[in-house]
Amino acid sequence: MGCGNLRFGPAGKPIDLKGDMLDAPSFLRNIGLNAMEYEAVRGVNISKEKAERLGAFARENDVVLSLHAPYYINLSAVENEKVESSVKRLVDSLKATQWMGGYVVVFHPGYYLEWGIKEAVSRVIHGINMVWDRFGEVSNVKNVWLGPETTGKTKQVGSVEDVIEICSNVEKCRPVVDWAHLHARSLGRFPQDVGDVVKVIEAFEKRLGKEAINPLHTHFSKIEYTRGGEKEHHTLDENYGPDFRLVCEAYREVGVSAVIISESPILERDALKMKGICEEICGML
Ligand SMILES: [Zn+2]
Repeated sequence: MGCGNLRFGPAGKPIDLKGDMLDAPSFLRNIGLNAMEYEAVRGVNISKEKAERLGAFARENDVVLSLHAPYYINLSAVENEKVESSVKRLVDSLKATQWMGGYVVVFHPGYYLEWGIKEAVSRVIHGINMVWDRFGEVSNVKNVWLGPETTGKTKQVGSVEDVIEICSNVEKCRPVVDWAHLHARSLGRFPQDVGDVVKVIEAFEKRLGKEAINPLHTHFSKIEYTRGGEKEHHTLDENYGPDFRLVCEAYREVGVSAVIISESPILERDALKMKGICEEICGML
């Protein structure tokens, strides 16, 4: 297999962009990138007008947009109010993403707490159904996907299995794979080789279908972990795992298309480095 269509971009406003967020799409195109994740991680505060303008600039510059929902989301929370406010944050995220013409809302589903895996996952599924019900009251178009992310801490819902289980039980759900998080939550055991990465992509495809991984929404950075998993994201040049080559080689082997978002502290600079690595593996992109 050859490489599919691979897009690269930063998680949030490029660090070398001095201007406004609205200048990000042209900035990214000028340096050779074509994706961006809008970070609403501290709350969805963008106005409809600004979101629509950002979307128009993104389309003009061939930049694909996604949105990262607030960190403060826990669909498996014990307290009803916490579930309610999580549902609301996801509905707001869907709205904003629709305004900007983005394709997926990335979010961390919740925590295992005292529930155990099965019950926590089933609470997340219940919460997502509430999100789509609520969203259906304000919009009759559903062109945005919900993307539960593979998470970095061992107490968080978000193993590969969890994400597959969630997405196979709700509508418009696609996996968001963060390879750094999987490395951290496995305490460095994953991935050992290209085959380990291929297996995950094939499991997504087999259980969720081709559409859910076309493109495969991807996060990447190097990462430091402790016993509980994720501690800190690092740049590609730092001496931590995982190895980005394994990811790109696996993408070539499967022929999957992907939107690859850099969560490195130096955002777009490392997105360009990742693009360079894939170009070595794939030929010019
Ligand atoms: Zn995330």
